[in-house]
Amino acid sequence: MEKTIDEKVQGTTLAVAARKENKRNLFIESYGCAMNFADSEIVASILANEGFNTTQVLEDADLVLVNTCSIRDKAEQTIRKRLTEYNKVKKSRPHLKVGVLGCMAERLKDKLLDEEKIVDMVVGPDAYKDLPNLIKEVDSGRDAVNVILSKDETYGDIAPVRLNTNGVTAFVSITRGCDNMCTFCVVPFTRGRERSRDPQSVLAEINELWKKGFKEITLLGQNVDSYLWYGGGLKKNFENASPMQKATAINFSKLLEMVALAQPKMRIRFSTSNPQDMTLDVIKTMAKYKNICNHIHLPVQSGSNRILKEMNRLHTIEEYFELIDNIRELLPDCAISQDIISGFPTETEEDHAATLKALEYVKYDFGYMYAYSERPGTLAGRKMEDDVPEPTKKRRLSEIIALQREHCQFRTEKHVGKIQEVLIEGTSKKSENEWMGRNSQSTVVVFPKEHYKIGDFVNVKIHDCTSATLKGTALDYSENN
Ligand code: SAM
Repeated sequence: MEKTIDEKVQGTTLAVAARKENKRNLFIESYGCAMNFADSEIVASILANEGFNTTQVLEDADLVLVNTCSIRDKAEQTIRKRLTEYNKVKKSRPHLKVGVLGCMAERLKDKLLDEEKIVDMVVGPDAYKDLPNLIKEVDSGRDAVNVILSKDETYGDIAPVRLNTNGVTAFVSITRGCDNMCTFCVVPFTRGRERSRDPQSVLAEINELWKKGFKEITLLGQNVDSYLWYGGGLKKNFENASPMQKATAINFSKLLEMVALAQPKMRIRFSTSNPQDMTLDVIKTMAKYKNICNHIHLPVQSGSNRILKEMNRLHTIEEYFELIDNIRELLPDCAISQDIISGFPTETEEDHAATLKALEYVKYDFGYMYAYSERPGTLAGRKMEDDVPEPTKKRRLSEIIALQREHCQFRTEKHVGKIQEVLIEGTSKKSENEWMGRNSQSTVVVFPKEHYKIGDFVNVKIHDCTSATLKGTALDYSENN
């Protein structure tokens, strides 16, 4: 699930093994990016110590928490619709309390309490440790809000619960917040300034996951390449760090190496990279360690230098192509995926053509493409008119998607005929008799189950494909097994 926003998992409820002593039921539902899903695991862990078991049945809930996304207007509308569903349940369960967590909570703050009468509690992404107090407040009949953003909260000391996963792949957060200030993006306002998590707590979490049988982790952050640990605190304050702190600071390529060495049989992925922060060292580290997967999610957003500038992406398209060329040279088998926004304010047909040209240059393995959605409070929202008509945005988006589809097919076909290591994640959605897993490039592979099981690393001979799925036959366990 490298996707920044994975449509298939939106609204997934988290279920955790019940504790006998816990008497209340928590229904926790997540929307948005992988970081939100990882955060819900932290929240469930905090509330397991506060007397809550998780339930997947809304009608059994005593507390409903919805972890929200603000990245586009549509994401917020989805949540508002969902709140009306909770409201129906509240009619028959008057003691039911409803809390909104995450980016929408942070963006709207106590306005949410006025706008959505059903909401009892509003909790921003840095305030989850305060949940026990906030729940006491709502239990005593008062509304509760904590949307304070933190300089150092990374939840490094909380072991997230993972029990409703496939037991094979897990997310590990390494940074929170973002300092990039892309003009279209709400993240710096909802998730605060960027800070990195103590590498020792990252390693401890990964070692624990390995002991529990997990075989693949994805290091998570809005901008992982910007990771910088110098003893704690905001990245922007690094310049004030002591000479000792500066000399011993750990950047992303170093962290990646530490993780790869700590668990040499575990697959390592990371998401998301930002072109302006990705260094050659990261690519070299990927090339050096076999267990770091050959996939980079590298959002480009636009192929036009003028639009990149308006977006405050701090690179040109030529610099982006140079990075792509370096990746191709050092990691010839590496998959590259993208995020693109169509119809950013002032985008012309010429700018759009430049985006199509960028797609042709890279021929991405896959991508996530969106029509621009103006977000209140962002620089573009305040300073630029949303002037590309909706039908034009949609038409450009569909041209981008159609071209990307051709490239998906082109890249997927390149795997046919090869023998590739696949980590089995579960049963194929299409057939009970087939396993589903991924190769190093993150392409889905399906093959007959035979005697293999979930969590096995298997060498699979690829003999066929659709545009996004490879089909094969297992030859044997891989040496990693
Ligand atoms: N940090 C990454 C970066 O910008 O390189 C991506 C993180 S963002 C949470 C995920 C994607 O959502 C972005 O890459 C962008 O394509 C899309 N996105 C963000 N703001 C948007 C907006 N206002 N309208 C449409 N798409 C947007």
